[in-house]
Amino acid sequence: MLEDAHYYFQKAADVLDLPDRLREILLTPIRVVKVELVFDDDEGKLQHYLGFRVQHNKARGPMKGGLRFHPDMDEDHAAALANLMTWKTAVVDVPFGGAKGGINCDPSKMSERELNIVTRRFVEQTKEIIGPTTDIPAPDVNTNAKVMGWIMDEYSKYAGFSPGVVTGKPLHLFGSEGRDEATGRGVMVVLDEALKDRGKSWQDIRVAVQGFGNVGANAARLIAEQGAKIVAIGDHMGGVSNDNGLDIDELIAWAQENRTVKGFEGGEPFNSPEVITWDVDVLIPAALEGAINSDNANKIKADIIIEGANAPTSPAAHEALVQRGVLIVPDILANAGGVTVSYFEWVQNIQQFRWRKDRVDQELTDMMRKAYAAVREVAKKHSIDLRTAAFVLAIRRVSKAAMARTYVEEDIQL
Ligand code: NAD
Repeated sequence: MLEDAHYYFQKAADVLDLPDRLREILLTPIRVVKVELVFDDDEGKLQHYLGFRVQHNKARGPMKGGLRFHPDMDEDHAAALANLMTWKTAVVDVPFGGAKGGINCDPSKMSERELNIVTRRFVEQTKEIIGPTTDIPAPDVNTNAKVMGWIMDEYSKYAGFSPGVVTGKPLHLFGSEGRDEATGRGVMVVLDEALKDRGKSWQDIRVAVQGFGNVGANAARLIAEQGAKIVAIGDHMGGVSNDNGLDIDELIAWAQENRTVKGFEGGEPFNSPEVITWDVDVLIPAALEGAINSDNANKIKADIIIEGANAPTSPAAHEALVQRGVLIVPDILANAGGVTVSYFEWVQNIQQFRWRKDRVDQELTDMMRKAYAAVREVAKKHSIDLRTAAFVLAIRRVSKAAMARTYVEEDIQL
């Protein structure tokens, strides 16, 4: 996975003619932490998991990135995702660096008590390296506002009242209005821009979504509200399709109760992986990495792909799709709505002041449109695809910040 992230970086670094020394510095994480989390399970047996936190770059501010609870979580995943966070925060121009972490546990097999203890153990083991001005975690796969609240509580035991140590918290515990749907809203806004680029309107399009969690469900709801038809959705258990458009509000209610879209009666069932090659105009991968790869890229029918997930497209698939003229809005732009509203939450925490939801939504929309416009301009200038352009923009911003913080012998033009 790390190799894929490096591939995109190197391609953009070539456009910038970035010196090798700077490439190495920018690719190397500043800190990699692995901790053991020992706890008593509900049967009174001693168990353990491993926790990871990779801090990639802090040239532009405190490091920022999600915490993922998943059996596949390891150092490689954390490093690759931390790397992406550095470029993502730079693309939307929020004053953060990049980090990522998680625990190799499976929350679906754990009780709430076990989850709470393991989360607190993680904070106990990383409290010296996280903090409101150093590294600020947020929700990711299988973590949510409740987990973020536990993190704030545990960290505050050591450091005093510190709401700014983590974002994506519950509203009644200094969270921000609009944070829960922010990534989905950002996906909807960049799709609006992509439709303009392709001369299409909301009413013209049929959309398929992979993943129906925080990102997928909110994106589907907000896109359906614009007038588009969501015709297929697949998650880890199965898929459901409806040619006339799925009723997303009903599907959200179903999925909340059943923890899957499978079995929803407002559509036809299908095998989940088929969602990627569904006959649609727009495909939104919003589950895990590697969903779009050499095996399925040539069968994709959508001509716009909005990457709600992190790293859903392998380099080989990316190249094949771009070659075919598919417009891919890359993860570091498309799903940056989450970190943008996390930034707003952090600002509100520092100021001890609350913003209304309409302000959050408007500022988010403005920042996403501005970021898309900046990436589009770089793409046009260098005749490159949007992903390479987003990396070019981000690498330039991070490199300039890094160089401005230190004495450099030679002037590197970027
Ligand atoms: P989530 O845990 O809320 O939901 C994950 C969804 O993916 C679930 O619907 C699950 O069923 C589905 N899924 C898992 N494995 C699958 C498989 N093999 N096939 C099909 N579906 C599968 O997670 P989330 O927060 O929505 O995150 C989804 C993606 O978006 C991740 O890549 C994450 O890193 C990225 N992301 C999340 C945020 C955020 O704010 N939550 C921000 C930026 C990027």
